[in-house]
Amino acid sequence: MYATDDENLVIVSYKDDATAFDGLKKGTITGKGVVNNRMSNRIMQMLEENGVPTHFVKELSERETLVKKVSIVPLEVIIRNISAGSFAKRFGVEEGIDFAEPTIEFSYKNDDLHDPLMNSYHALALGLATKEEINTIKSMAFKINEVMKAYFLTLGVKLVDFKLEFGRLADGTIVLADEISPDTCRFWDAETNEKLDKDRFRRDLGNVEGAYAEMQKRVFGE
Ligand code: UDP
Repeated sequence: MYATDDENLVIVSYKDDATAFDGLKKGTITGKGVVNNRMSNRIMQMLEENGVPTHFVKELSERETLVKKVSIVPLEVIIRNISAGSFAKRFGVEEGIDFAEPTIEFSYKNDDLHDPLMNSYHALALGLATKEEINTIKSMAFKINEVMKAYFLTLGVKLVDFKLEFGRLADGTIVLADEISPDTCRFWDAETNEKLDKDRFRRDLGNVEGAYAEMQKRVFGE
């Protein structure tokens, strides 16, 4: 992140660095910064058109974007449509169960504590957000899911689950922040269930760059 002359705006610069498992696994995914920047911007603009306020202002280059400065609500908001990852592990079920209704969960963004799972009452008790803010975040997250799920299906991609982060503008308005990309979403090919996201890096599945390139191709047709 870089400051600008305007105290309300900052520049995000996307790198190719990749981490997983709380930073224990480190690597580089060549070209990832470009894919994530462009994809995140495309989705944020689509969400804006659908009435969801975001931090997005302007794409400056392949890797740089001007965004509104926010103070981040220290919650990772996770929406799931299909069982995978920590959900499958925690509840002892296989990956790939299609849920009748999406689920929502929160993690406390705190590296020392390894981002523990929490519910909205815990967030309220710790003063991480107000009741109104939590309600806004929940309804925005489900709305984002509906828009994204439908969009990715048109690209032949199942939106399995994803993580969102929200921030407060100077006037207190809650907006979607951070990024939406193969780093933060699980994408499975709708026909074959092939993984097209960061799980290829996390699980050493190979063809990591290929998965990011494939998602770029589906979104931008190139
Ligand atoms: N996720 C993320 N950052 C995190 C944790 C999770 O972007 O620090 C995303 C992850 O890519 C997936 C979803 O949130 O799309 C749910 O992740 P899960 O809880 O299953 O954790 P994981 O199995 O990745 O540890």
